[in-house]
Amino acid sequence: MLYGRLDYQRKVRALDHFLYRDGILHAEDVPLSEIAASVGTPAYVYSTATLERHFRLFDEALEGMPHLVCYAMKAASNQAILKTLAALGAGMDVVSGGEYARAKAAGVPGDKIVFAGVGKTEAEIAQALAGGLRQFNVESESELQAISRVASEMGVTAPVTIRVNPDVDAKTHAKIATGKSENKFGVPIARARGVYAEAAALPGIEVIGIDVHIGSQLTDLAPFEAAYLKVAELTETLRADGHKIERLDLGGGLGIPYERSNTAPPLPTEYGALIKRTVGHLGCEIEIEPGRLIAGNAGILLSRVVYVKEGEGRRFLILDAAMNDLIRPAMYDAWHDIVPVIEPEPGQERASYDVVGPVCESGDTFARAREMPQLREGDLVAFRSAGAYGAVMASEYNSRPLVPEVLVKDDHHAVIRARPSFDEMISRDSIPEWL
Ligand SMILES: *Cc1c(COP(=O)(O)O)cnc(C)c1O
Repeated sequence: MLYGRLDYQRKVRALDHFLYRDGILHAEDVPLSEIAASVGTPAYVYSTATLERHFRLFDEALEGMPHLVCYAMKAASNQAILKTLAALGAGMDVVSGGEYARAKAAGVPGDKIVFAGVGKTEAEIAQALAGGLRQFNVESESELQAISRVASEMGVTAPVTIRVNPDVDAKTHAKIATGKSENKFGVPIARARGVYAEAAALPGIEVIGIDVHIGSQLTDLAPFEAAYLKVAELTETLRADGHKIERLDLGGGLGIPYERSNTAPPLPTEYGALIKRTVGHLGCEIEIEPGRLIAGNAGILLSRVVYVKEGEGRRFLILDAAMNDLIRPAMYDAWHDIVPVIEPEPGQERASYDVVGPVCESGDTFARAREMPQLREGDLVAFRSAGAYGAVMASEYNSRPLVPEVLVKDDHHAVIRARPSFDEMISRDSIPEWL
């Protein structure tokens, strides 16, 4: 690692737009208490400056190589977030017809949209071919045939890269590792030559490159290096076989420091240097698909303490946010720093809490035995680093209205997805005529 932990924290802190000012946690220039008062809690709050900053870090890290940073919009796909990034020239990595439609609705041109995903339907393939796209990242022979069929019927040629599975251990949580041979993603790299030969023979398809994505929340560059070296070698092999390999899509996956006190994942500049070192000599156009690192630290989940409850040998902090609003702790055992919105006094008493939501499941637990400044009923708290895989995974479980989203820019804030009223929530159901 090039940077020590403290050095990293200093750098990250310099990029942080959620800081205490005058004793209150702010999003840029807006006190979070003001947002809680006007929008209510729970609510997601995003910082425009952080989104922009993170996109630019990647863009600058690849300077000197032809490249496109395609934001993996599954991390956070609100139209306002997409428009913010699109205005900087971001491409989009989409994984469904719905995401494709969202990218187009945000004004992203088709030739900046990469369509990924293991289960693209013929309807989705036709939708993207009709609306225009940069390329399909193809995950199987069957999908190649489906794309060939649909493109031929439409009388068009589909640009494709083939996603190879390099059999590299990303050393991340099992649910977000994608680059081992046991994962459902990509074609085994050992079989790649055969698949490229098959693709070259199919009508309606133009193979233009290679795609790889080994997982998410990687906190070490070594797995990326192993994967990219394999991709470099494959590029030479496929070129020798007569294929035109002009574009390398190197996926996303760079991790963020969820637990600020003890994680220091590599910086985008180090990641960019690695890309140059491993595949820079090939003369390919480079695409990367970061999601988490662009949106993760750009968002917090704002919540209020409903009750403090004394249990048997433990104290529960019961919040008005729940697993339906932020599922990462329940699903991935994820850690989120949880901080009070009112800045603790130096030397303020601390306490250990099990931080939970109101949902009727024990899995609705955000943290166990978490050391925090002492909190009281009615206090506001913020879950840090909740911008990615937060709001997009929210549901209305327990008939809790879908959590709203707010975007801050300087001293402005705007609701970018409103909390539905109970009536709106109920009116989405319809009653069959026999009732
Ligand atoms: C999820 C995903 C990404 C984004 O991963 P992050 O960890 O959010 O950067 C990129 N590419 C593909 C194919 C993905 O599935």
